[in-house]
Amino acid sequence: MLTTLKRIVDEVNRQPVLEKALERVAQLAKQTMQTECCSIYLADHDNRHYLLMATDGLSPNSVGSVAIGFDEGLVGLVGEKEEPVNVANARFHPRFLITPQVKEDAYNSFLGAPIIHQRQVVGVISVQHSTQSFFDESKVAFLVTLAAQLGSAIAHAEARDALDRAEHPELKSRARSLKGVAGSSGIAFGHAYVIQPHISFADIVPRRTHNIGREIVRFKQAVKKTQQELKVLSVKMSSILPSDTSAIFDVYHYMLNDDTLGERVQEQIHSGWNAATALKIVIEELCSEFSQMEDSYIRERVTDIRDIGQRVLINIIKKELSKRPIPDKVVLVAEEVTASMLAEIPREQLQGICSVRGSNNSHAAILARALGIPAILGLEDLPLTNLDGRETIIDGYSGQVFFNPDSVISKEYQVLLVEEQELEELVQSIADKPAETKDGTQVSLAINTGLAADFEVVRGIDADGIGLYRTEIPFMVRNCFPSESEQCALYQKALDAYPGKSINMRTLDVGGDKPLPYFPIEEDNPFLGWRGIRMTLDHPEILLVQVRAMLKANIDRGNLQILLPMITSVQEVDECLRLIKQAHAELEEELQRTLVKPKVGVMLEVPAAIYQIGLLSKKVDFFSVGTNDLTQYLLAVDRNNARVANLYTYYHPGVLEALKFIANQCHKFNTPVSICGEMAGEPIGLLILMSLGYRKFSMSAQNLLKAKWILRHISLSDIADLQHKVSFETDPEAIKLIVSEKLDQLGLGGFIRAGK
Ligand code: PEP
Ligand code: MG
Repeated sequence: MLTTLKRIVDEVNRQPVLEKALERVAQLAKQTMQTECCSIYLADHDNRHYLLMATDGLSPNSVGSVAIGFDEGLVGLVGEKEEPVNVANARFHPRFLITPQVKEDAYNSFLGAPIIHQRQVVGVISVQHSTQSFFDESKVAFLVTLAAQLGSAIAHAEARDALDRAEHPELKSRARSLKGVAGSSGIAFGHAYVIQPHISFADIVPRRTHNIGREIVRFKQAVKKTQQELKVLSVKMSSILPSDTSAIFDVYHYMLNDDTLGERVQEQIHSGWNAATALKIVIEELCSEFSQMEDSYIRERVTDIRDIGQRVLINIIKKELSKRPIPDKVVLVAEEVTASMLAEIPREQLQGICSVRGSNNSHAAILARALGIPAILGLEDLPLTNLDGRETIIDGYSGQVFFNPDSVISKEYQVLLVEEQELEELVQSIADKPAETKDGTQVSLAINTGLAADFEVVRGIDADGIGLYRTEIPFMVRNCFPSESEQCALYQKALDAYPGKSINMRTLDVGGDKPLPYFPIEEDNPFLGWRGIRMTLDHPEILLVQVRAMLKANIDRGNLQILLPMITSVQEVDECLRLIKQAHAELEEELQRTLVKPKVGVMLEVPAAIYQIGLLSKKVDFFSVGTNDLTQYLLAVDRNNARVANLYTYYHPGVLEALKFIANQCHKFNTPVSICGEMAGEPIGLLILMSLGYRKFSMSAQNLLKAKWILRHISLSDIADLQHKVSFETDPEAIKLIVSEKLDQLGLGGFIRAGK
């Protein structure tokens, strides 16, 4: 049963045309369930109906033309109830809808199951039979399992289909955009530039071609290149491996030389597939033929066929990728966007970011915000192999991305972009004005930074220092741990960005979604694992070198403050203070001079720490609230997981209560506190935090001027009742609405949506 299920779902993934894929599913499901009819309907939410997309058993002429309203018929009932509906005689059911075109007179029993993706009913799959009896439990279980698996496969196929239709305007488009999680606000126009470090057959989305000659050349060149690589490899290996093992390379050579592979691939190209797809089809066929052979030796050759196919595939794709120039305006597209990928593309060319993985507070999103680049993450249905070079528009407010947009969409977004630029110019006009409210309350606005390129952005901005310097970013874009002197040079730059103003340098906070390429950490729950201070306390040699570099950089500057991430217990702080003291003493002795003792602070981001504010305040000089992690840990929602992005919110009453508690505790124990999580950079968050009594914030450079503008256009009296008002609400969306309305009343609505 499992293998049948897998085969059916694979069919959807393999077929380039959605209609064809669904047709195969209907056929296979009907066969497997030994029933007389299987049909698939897809939801059209704009028109509020289900459209019959495929059937094996109803009239083929009704496909694409029969639509059943969301509140009509048994199909509509399945969607409404969001559960299977099993009826022995459909004709006697009050919801039975007479639809003569489908010609279903022969059938009596009906079983339908909803196809659900990301909480939304995207379709219904039904089976029908002439006997008047309920479908038995095993059939219901099978259909429900199949429908559950089809949800994401159909969403993927629809996304692919929408992209193909955008390329061929003569085809009617069902969906015009893909939706992900908005990670960094703003509008961007550019051309998709896909970076795909590892490519395999599973990533190949079938693509057709009109240029058969070019695809044949591409395939032949890839085979030649693979043969050359194998020759080099076999010479290298023959000195290391016994001769019978290195003979495998002869087999590989034979396979590549053998005309069958070449001929079969070329046949597929002639039938209209591009080189990569043709190769995928042939390799899959060969593997399936070989795995059915009696002879075990031949059966085992399946691995070799896959390996050789993989090598040729890489050369086909590499050739395509290496030839392409970096577009003038790049929208970077990747499975998971990393700091080093961002570093590869010249800043002035990088316009936007799309990532399959990640969510609104992943570190990739934070980097994008630091650079002021719109970003969309969690685009789980994005077919990567299909996108390179496409014209792209990103809406970093709503999380929508448009590939090959039509002229209406382009014009709409051009207008929004102009309005956004006007807003940007407007906020620039207050760049050198103080951060204070209309009634003169002083607010401290510092910057969050970490990217070396950041300092360019940061330099022109009048800020109260750096509230959070994420030191791990420079560690992530290297091939090994940076040396003490390399670190020292970097830290000097950070300290020089704002002479005389405090720079909060956080000790290494790797782990979670910030892996070091040269220090792999494999964990089931990385955000609950060996992260931040937990790792560096286990490796004091890393922490000591870092602290020494910070202290050295601080010589003749004196504006360093050290910030400790992921603190959970007082003992961790004691241990860190001991190591900082040790580094300080060693350096003083080495350099034979007195060094300033920097202030030390603790990040409040692990919930346990907020209940120890009294104890911790006796040990350290200040606190900084990391709302990104605090929210993640309070709500038990992975900040990096797009599936639960709708649950990740700073505006949950529990999070707001914790923030109120922190403000009160810090006041009680007379210890300065600031907010360095991304919440402070959001207009809604800023207003709420101000109403809770916070007056010190640190945020990405992109948000700082907007925050200053907002502060300069509000009085404390405007927000005096905000905390009280939101305290009655239990729904984060209702809380956001209250604050959004307040922003609108104050004429500041342009900061929370695209356009003015
Ligand atoms: C936070 O957790 O809020 C924070 C500022 O740190 P990071 O986002 O780097 O984890
Ligand atoms: Mg954190």
